[in-house]
Amino acid sequence: MRMSQLFAPTLRENPHEAEVVSHQLLTRAGYIRQIARGIYNYLPLMQRVMKKVEAIVREEMDRAGAQELLMPIMQPADLWIESGRWAVYGKELIRFKDRHDRDCVLGPTHEEVITSTANNGIHSYKQLPVNLYQIQNKYRDEVRPRFGLLRGREFIMKDAYSFHTSQADLEREYDVMAEAYRRIFLRCGLDTRMVQSDSGAIGGAVSHEFMVLTQTHSGEDDVYYCDSCGYAANGERAESILPDATVDGQAIFGTTEQVVDTPDCDDIESLTKCLKMPASLICKALLYIKDETMPFLVFIRGDLEAEEIKVQNAVAANHIRLADADEVAEFAHSAKGYVGVAGWRMCNEELPGFEGRVSLVYRAEHLKEYHLQLPVLLDSSVLNLKNFAMANNEIGKHVVGYNWPHDRASQELLETNTFDLKRARAGDQCPTCLAELNMTRGIEVGNIFQLGTKYSEAMSATYTDEDGTEKHFVMGCYGIGISRTAAAAVERYHDQDGIAWPIPIAPYVVSVVPVNADDQTQWTLAKQLYDDLQAAGVEAVIDDRDERAGVKFKDSELMGFPIRVTVGKKAADGVLEVKLREGGDVKELPAAEVLPYIRSLVEEATDFAKLEARFKAGQPAAAGAAS
Ligand code: ATP
Ligand code: MG
Repeated sequence: MRMSQLFAPTLRENPHEAEVVSHQLLTRAGYIRQIARGIYNYLPLMQRVMKKVEAIVREEMDRAGAQELLMPIMQPADLWIESGRWAVYGKELIRFKDRHDRDCVLGPTHEEVITSTANNGIHSYKQLPVNLYQIQNKYRDEVRPRFGLLRGREFIMKDAYSFHTSQADLEREYDVMAEAYRRIFLRCGLDTRMVQSDSGAIGGAVSHEFMVLTQTHSGEDDVYYCDSCGYAANGERAESILPDATVDGQAIFGTTEQVVDTPDCDDIESLTKCLKMPASLICKALLYIKDETMPFLVFIRGDLEAEEIKVQNAVAANHIRLADADEVAEFAHSAKGYVGVAGWRMCNEELPGFEGRVSLVYRAEHLKEYHLQLPVLLDSSVLNLKNFAMANNEIGKHVVGYNWPHDRASQELLETNTFDLKRARAGDQCPTCLAELNMTRGIEVGNIFQLGTKYSEAMSATYTDEDGTEKHFVMGCYGIGISRTAAAAVERYHDQDGIAWPIPIAPYVVSVVPVNADDQTQWTLAKQLYDDLQAAGVEAVIDDRDERAGVKFKDSELMGFPIRVTVGKKAADGVLEVKLREGGDVKELPAAEVLPYIRSLVEEATDFAKLEARFKAGQPAAAGAAS
């Protein structure tokens, strides 16, 4: 490609709406243009990167035995009603009506379509297992589409779905996919960590995410990991052991329960100051609303945060949120900071909406006229509190020296309603080996998921098994954000001058820069190398523009071509300069040696065994890259 013809409108300044580096650099370097929030043009350079990532994904998926198909973006609502997701998907789902007034959606994902497709096409166990994938645009009306290609409202995903006759066979395929993913990301030049992730309220379901680790705020997910045993999980899922599991307030409050004044203490900080105690001695009661109608309480230690996904799963909600001031007044007869049940009576009961999940209910029998009753879930952190502080819903007061009832029935009731609901913290102990847990940020580039029979049951998708009975398909699904992977590579490989693409996904591998295009010797040598590169299958640009060398160098660096060959003054002696974008290594070579050198670099960057060895050795981050 001649630079004079390349359609890559560059910008001098970062666009003001671009908060993260990949969004800034991809826009400035002429790769993308925003059309609306979260909706982009992929200009020619970006499209080449996308095609490279897609090619790697296709090769590895095919190699793992999956088959590519293409499903429609526009889908009838009927399928979504059947699966039950029409009612629960929320505003991310883009819904519209066709001319016959039929409800339709733009696919945010394709479980519904693939399950119905499998149901129509697979009749017998003999046709199983099968793994079907597509690379397709996806639509999600994200609340905050603010990170460029990392979180678009229209984006490109590889999604695969596998169908099995047994959980064991699903688990086999799951491992095959995990290995394919490891290979895909390594081949893109990305070191990823596979971490346990949340699988929703499906009990026992297994899922993992592939994370590109980064310390910048472009990493939207927290990743907790243990260097000693390899445990790794995302923030929604990570468990941890508290180093100070038992906290006793005897020295501060004594052992008899009493009510004390705590005026203006509507947060943990002011309460700890007022009562001169650590936050860990408080049993905090959070009032949540399940699915907009059902209030419930969560007890958690004052120094910890509740992880809402864990809470949501524990009560099998589609959605939860903290109660507002009016709701706190209505359901707890209290105000922010003073919610608690000290003084309420504990009962073993299941309220509507919490059946099979929560059997602990607290009732305010002393306030009969209000009929106050709330289901309660405990985070395991509060079980070992002794002589602690808790509110009793009286504004301006707290109870201190409080203890859980000691009798066996109450203890059992408390324990049955205890869950892991807290957000792990760096410095807590690893749940598997007790070593110290670390935390970093990550960009989720892919995930794999054991769905089981969730969709096949909802949509009555069955096959005839060997024994003649109809059985539901056991399913897995596996996603990769193609456009997000490309953006994550920019987050990982860049410096103050621009992008530094890994060779395997660079739009062009080499930029040939004649310093002075009017100099016949330089131009002839540059053009010869450019032609040789093309003939050798190495994609290159040649900067034939009538620009100063500085401008050409700057653009080459901004656009991030991995190898730059400068044809300058020494061209007369047949000597060229080869500079690596990442690391900045410079070599002067006789013209004849340039192509073999470049080929060796490409070989190095695309050889799987070499990539594996490089990442095992903990290859250092690109210059200036966030690490
Ligand atoms: P996230 O938690 O980041 O919203 P998700 O759990 O919704 O991701 P999936 O529905 O499993 O993601 O989609 C599979 C993959 O698609 C993700 O791993 C991610 O790489 C990519 N992806 C998801 N949402 C977006 C988006 N809005 N823009 C770009 N890529 C996305
Ligand atoms: Mg999402």
